[in-house]
Amino acid sequence: MPDNLPIHDPADPLGMAPDERRRLAHWVVDRVLDHFEHSAEGPVIHEETPHDLTSRLGGPPPEEPGDPVAALSVLVDAVLRDMQHGDHPRYFARVPSPSSFTGVLGDWLGTGFNAIAASWAGGSGPASVELVVLDWLRQLLGLPEGSEGVLTSGGSLANATALIAARNRSGPGVAYLSDQTHSSLERGLRAIGFPAEHVRVLPTDASYRFNVDVLSDAIGLDRASGLRPGFVVATAGTTNTGAVDPLDALADVCAAEGMWLHVDGAYGAPAVLCDEGRAVVRGLERSDSLVVDPHKWLFQPYDVGSVFVRHPRALTEAFTMTPEYLTDAAERLGEVDLRDRSLELSRRARGLKIWLTMRTHGLARIRDAIARGIHLAQYAEEAVRSDDRWELVTPAQLGIVTFAGVGATSADHAAAARELARDGFAAVTSTKLRERSVLRLCTINPRTTEEDITSTLDRLATALSSLWS
Ligand code: PLP
Repeated sequence: MPDNLPIHDPADPLGMAPDERRRLAHWVVDRVLDHFEHSAEGPVIHEETPHDLTSRLGGPPPEEPGDPVAALSVLVDAVLRDMQHGDHPRYFARVPSPSSFTGVLGDWLGTGFNAIAASWAGGSGPASVELVVLDWLRQLLGLPEGSEGVLTSGGSLANATALIAARNRSGPGVAYLSDQTHSSLERGLRAIGFPAEHVRVLPTDASYRFNVDVLSDAIGLDRASGLRPGFVVATAGTTNTGAVDPLDALADVCAAEGMWLHVDGAYGAPAVLCDEGRAVVRGLERSDSLVVDPHKWLFQPYDVGSVFVRHPRALTEAFTMTPEYLTDAAERLGEVDLRDRSLELSRRARGLKIWLTMRTHGLARIRDAIARGIHLAQYAEEAVRSDDRWELVTPAQLGIVTFAGVGATSADHAAAARELARDGFAAVTSTKLRERSVLRLCTINPRTTEEDITSTLDRLATALSSLWS
């Protein structure tokens, strides 16, 4: 038997002596603090083979107790090392998650107290904090009072939640997406029962934005064949380029046609907070439903997304559940049962971390942090423009810039991105814009420096240097 086993108490088989709990808790806190202080010195991304990982983690289900520090060490050294570190200053791939320490503290408290935000009666505190946070976000997004919101696990679920409420409120119809809409939306539509023949993926314009003329033609064709155009799915900050669809023009089309405008602002909507971004996302306040992901550009650890519907009670009408055994917890005036706003019944108290972050840092600092991401992409754009080995493909838009190595193929870009990831220096994405292969930086981490960007571009150029020698 190893030493350091938890003291066994037959009356509480999973219990621990208070001293032991404290010792383990401090151990965990110290490791997380180490992560915050030193992770920038470590690799951005690390991957082991399935064999290596399962040989450290797997084996038969452990029948006997083990040393908790040894087990915790495996979690820190193997599991939590072998992943993308979306909070690393040189993580520029996909959409980073530059989580703040206050966000972590809020999540810790919620988990430690096993907080639940399902019903008012079962958790008025966690429900209130979520309602307060939702109302803060609603105001910042410019949505009218009475709009309903709920926190979700992320953008995919938030978008699907909005579309369920949209269809419930306005009936079945054709949904119009663009070829730059995040792929989770098409999946969401399929999963909630939209037939494939009621989903149109329309080609974007030269700037990869929703093409309003193409949309109007598609609506006309569908009406002519007896279909009901129902929903436009716009994006405020596409994942590929950061482009924002022409939201005002799309809102005009929807108003004229009696259609529902859904805006996926999972990535880009927080730009509304700062002067640099507000004009770019203008029009999102006209959406019928809107999604924003705090675990992206609102500096929260995974997981938390949010969805808002401007029509009072549209979420509740779609999701209410009041079976007999829950009637004692039924909604009274001002007492909201959040379980009635999405498909989740038991749900974590995701509002705590956002509330703590906003209360601690205040909007002014959060605004600065968002603006910094926008400026860093502009800095990257300038660096690309001033180096004739690169060709700018799309300019800096909401913290994203795309570019190509002169003469580089898609295989070259992918190999260069892989090389940076392999040595752990930086993570960048290579993606395709129509048939064009590009490299892409997403610069929303406020801890990123200009030097991080320059050195990443230098390493990419070195990886591609055989093209130019
Ligand atoms: N919408 C957009 C624009 C995104 O960029 C993403 C993810 O990157 C999603 C939706 C999906 O969000 P999640 O990964 O939180 O489900």
